[in-house]
Formats: sequence, structure tokens, C-alpha cells
Amino acid sequence: MSDSLWQDRAVVLPWLKGRWEYLLELKAQNRFPHALLINGPEGIGKACFALALANYVLCREPKGGAACGHCRSCELTNSGNHPDLYLLKPEEPGKPIKIDQVRELTSFIYSTAQQGGYRVVILDPADSMNVNAANALLKMLEEPGTNTLLMLLTHRLGQMLPTIKSRCQRVDMPPADISLATQWVATQLEVDAAEAAQLLVIAHNSPLQALSYKQDDLLGLRAKVLKGLADILKNRSSAVEVAQSLYKEDLELVLGWIYSWIVDIARSSENQADPELLRHADAKNMLLALARKVSSQKLYHFADQVQVARKDLMFRRNPNKQLLMETLLTAWYSLPRPN
Ligand SMILES: [Zn+2]
Repeated sequence: MSDSLWQDRAVVLPWLKGRWEYLLELKAQNRFPHALLINGPEGIGKACFALALANYVLCREPKGGAACGHCRSCELTNSGNHPDLYLLKPEEPGKPIKIDQVRELTSFIYSTAQQGGYRVVILDPADSMNVNAANALLKMLEEPGTNTLLMLLTHRLGQMLPTIKSRCQRVDMPPADISLATQWVATQLEVDAAEAAQLLVIAHNSPLQALSYKQDDLLGLRAKVLKGLADILKNRSSAVEVAQSLYKEDLELVLGWIYSWIVDIARSSENQADPELLRHADAKNMLLALARKVSSQKLYHFADQVQVARKDLMFRRNPNKQLLMETLLTAWYSLPRPN
């Protein structure tokens, strides 16, 4: 059950029910917009929501605020072959949506719906359109024709063109409610609430990310990183040895964790090393010990080093990962020690 598999499911996750009811209410009042800009944090289920809404408007006999699941339209959407539903994504993840892809959409938008109802387009992520593609889409947003629904999904609202934004009705999705999300993750993964809550903290409150963390055994990697860091502080292993054991792992992820631990240490140490301010329960003892010892000047300097290393990993072609980790872990070793 990977993150991407979930993205392909038409389901309204529990913390988005309020938005769902709001949109259905608009539909009932004949005030349904032709273009929605669905905005909200990553990994909370926006794509699942958009698919569910597509199924709903395409369904011939929706019941109880949901698609019926049995009519001809529902059969088509369930098999992933509905001719009046168009999913527009980058050709490869992380790449832009191109103008040619938007142009192909034109003929779909201006044709008659084959099943006689709505035509629905989902653009995900809409912020990945380059300027030319966005301009090509503008025309469709201005004159979409009747019974058309365009759903633009984004978690980077700032990267959307203002002209696009102003032609859509914006729907802001809330972050996942913590207690609902904890319950949901616990059920999906068949784990207890404490583990689900911890997974959500690690996944920055993204329930779908929390599922994939568990599935990919990223908790195992995280435990390995924590043990390595503790071993360095306690002189059980050298920075070089731990760097050797870690440098082939997903370092962007590892450095993201280390950075979030630094934030924890800083927050706690600024308040007399208050343990209540540490969000990362699995690292609590080590973080608290550091919060008591480390100077804020050293901590901020280390935070900067971690950020520079993250940028190197993202933007440079071939950083020497082993050397990068050795440098950082040596700095980690010296954090609680006098210079
Ligand atoms: Zn149906």
C-alpha cells in the first residue's frame, strides 16, 4: 500500500469530510463552480478527494452524498476508463506539465460528454505547469463550456499564476486533524495509537507519508541513524565509522530528520531544556541531553551546515556523500564538547 496507490483511490479521508459536505452543498444549490483550486498540505489526500468528487459528479444516481458505485458511469470510473474523466499529470514525477499536454486537453474540454453528463479534468500538481502551459489553460478556464469541472491540485499555491488562481474557486484543505489522522493511520497499518502518532510526527503530519514510512521500513533506518548519532556522542563509534554506515542511505531524508531534531533541541534549550517541547519521542533522551549542554551559537552553526549539505545533495550532481556525512557527524560529535 504505497503512497501513490492511495493517490489513485477515490475516497474522502476523515479530516476532509467538512470540505466534501461544503462542495456537495454548493452543488445542491446549483452554485457549483466550473473550476476548483484544491489547495492544501502534501500527503493529506487531495488527489483521493478530487477523484471521489469526479466520481460523484459523473455518477448517474448519487446516493447519501456519494457516488452509487453501481451505475454505468461508476463502473467506468471504477475500472479507470471513464471517457469523460481526464487526468493530467507530468509525464514523469517532478517534471513540468507541458503546453502540448494542455493542448491535448482542449479537444476533450470542447467535445460533448460521451456519457451525456459532466466532463471532469484533474490537474495534479497544477503548480507544475510552466508559464506556456498555464497560459494555454487560461482560455479553457475562461470559457469552459457547460457541465465541465476542472480541478487544479496544489500544495505550492505561491507558484501558481495569479491569473489562474483568480479564475478558480479556491478550496483550502485543512491539515489532517491529529486525532482523526492517528486513528486512521493506526487502522490502516494495524498498529497501536502510540506508534501511529509517532509515525505522523516523523511524517510532518502527512498521513499518506506516514503509511509509506511504515511500508518502506523507514522507521528501521531512523532507528539506525539515531543509534549512530548516540554512539558518536558517547564515544562508542567514531564519526567516520557512522558516516561509512550511512552514506549510501537516502541522505536527503536522513538530513531532514537531523534538521528536525536540531529544531527540537533549540526549542527545548531556549526554555530551560523543557522535555515537553521535544516532539520526537523516539529521540527524546539524546535530544534532552543536548538541549542541556549545547550553546545556541554552536547549534545554529550546525543547523546551517546541515542546510548547506541538504542543498548540495539536491542541486549538485555528485557531492561526495561519504565526506559530506563525515564532516557533519564530526560537527555533531563536537556539539556538546568544549572547543
Ligand atoms: Zn453511480
